[in-house]
Amino acid sequence: MPTVEELKALAIEEIDKRKEEIIGHAKHILNNPEVGFTEFKTSKYVSEIFSKLGIEHDANLALTGLKGNIDCGGGEGPNVSVIGELDSLRIFEHPIHDLTTGAAHACGHHCQIGSMIGSMIGLIVPEVKNNLSGSIIPIAVPAEEFIDVEQRMLLREEGKIEFMGGKQEFIKLGVFDDVDMAMMCHTSATDTTFGVGGTSNAHIVKYVEFTGQAAHAGGSPHMGINALNAAMIALTGINANRETFLDTDTVRVHGILTRGGQAVSSIPSQVTLEWRVRSGSNEAVVANSKKVDRCFQAGAMAVGAKVSVTNIPGYMPRLDNTQLQELFLQNAGNLTTKDDIDIIDNSHNGGGSTDMGDLSQIMPTLHPYVGGGDGVGHSETYLIHDYEKAVIQPAKAMACVVIDLLSNNAAKAKEIKEKHNYNMTASQYLDFQRSVAEVIEYAPEG
Ligand SMILES: [Zn+2]
Ligand SMILES: [Zn+2]
Repeated sequence: MPTVEELKALAIEEIDKRKEEIIGHAKHILNNPEVGFTEFKTSKYVSEIFSKLGIEHDANLALTGLKGNIDCGGGEGPNVSVIGELDSLRIFEHPIHDLTTGAAHACGHHCQIGSMIGSMIGLIVPEVKNNLSGSIIPIAVPAEEFIDVEQRMLLREEGKIEFMGGKQEFIKLGVFDDVDMAMMCHTSATDTTFGVGGTSNAHIVKYVEFTGQAAHAGGSPHMGINALNAAMIALTGINANRETFLDTDTVRVHGILTRGGQAVSSIPSQVTLEWRVRSGSNEAVVANSKKVDRCFQAGAMAVGAKVSVTNIPGYMPRLDNTQLQELFLQNAGNLTTKDDIDIIDNSHNGGGSTDMGDLSQIMPTLHPYVGGGDGVGHSETYLIHDYEKAVIQPAKAMACVVIDLLSNNAAKAKEIKEKHNYNMTASQYLDFQRSVAEVIEYAPEG
């Protein structure tokens, strides 16, 4: 029977042998970007790759998601998932964007699909797979970027989704019910190959509609109710609340105006915003979200407009399992030098949010960062220049972690499952998220 180190060497050898093919998959997705819940071409592409690799899978989960299943040959054991995110952002200025939709991979998710597939290529080598227990579950998940709120509200009205993040929706659909632990690697713009640790913000998302009264902006503004002025007063109110946010809560309050009026000669009567409140804990984000709701109502009250604030459940803080982090660090250490690995304190909050946080509330998860990118994330400057760092190294590291977890009768995976401090169950998770979903209306009297 081969040793764990021999199994890892076999997986790494296969990934190296098929490096160009794996990087080719990532680049194909880069060149065909699609935003969340519309990743139909990407989903079909990944489905074809799974089929070619002989990986049985379900497709069209939450519209575009995929879930594979690889039964290992070594008997019963936990089910370990490796995840890649299918979606892009929407940035028309990005050098590689879809001409019609503006979709662009300015967060590097194309590399995640590459590293997920790469790790599978290493793990399905028969001599590797047959010496592991349990199952390996490759998952391609839609819509991590929480954008296009108005479009996703339509999908919700049509009953196609309830939640607007892919992993949230997967939790609701029960896709993760038989998954015991999950991992993925996300690209960053750091010089080092690997970065392990840190946490992320919770968030609540808002769709805000101010309704006023249109009137001739020159001839009869006194007959109008200016919804744009209501929105501006609301934003001033939000800014006045910033001194009340605790630094320790890593609060971010930000948004975009999606409709500011229709014609300059008409008092704006319909003004809409997509807004976001982020904080380091579920409790803080709920409290800070209420302050922001108050400001939107204050703006409407000031000019006699109506407002409707639709609160949409956002993401939860990410809490990586420390044993999984240790395993990842050991394997990363075998793939590169010590000074090429950033160890980030788990209390450090990067300010952003991910639905890997949601998953981390209900099961052991791992979400390291990998290098290879440069420019500013979520902007037109973000590009991957080093696919070895962004795709191949994480594919190898994740394959090796899975081998550690599922070799020796899956002793390590069983231990992690047993010792893990579960923050909530899937049903408690759904209860909390549904408690966030509410619509707050304000209308002047009379
Ligand atoms: Zn992103
Ligand atoms: Zn991302």
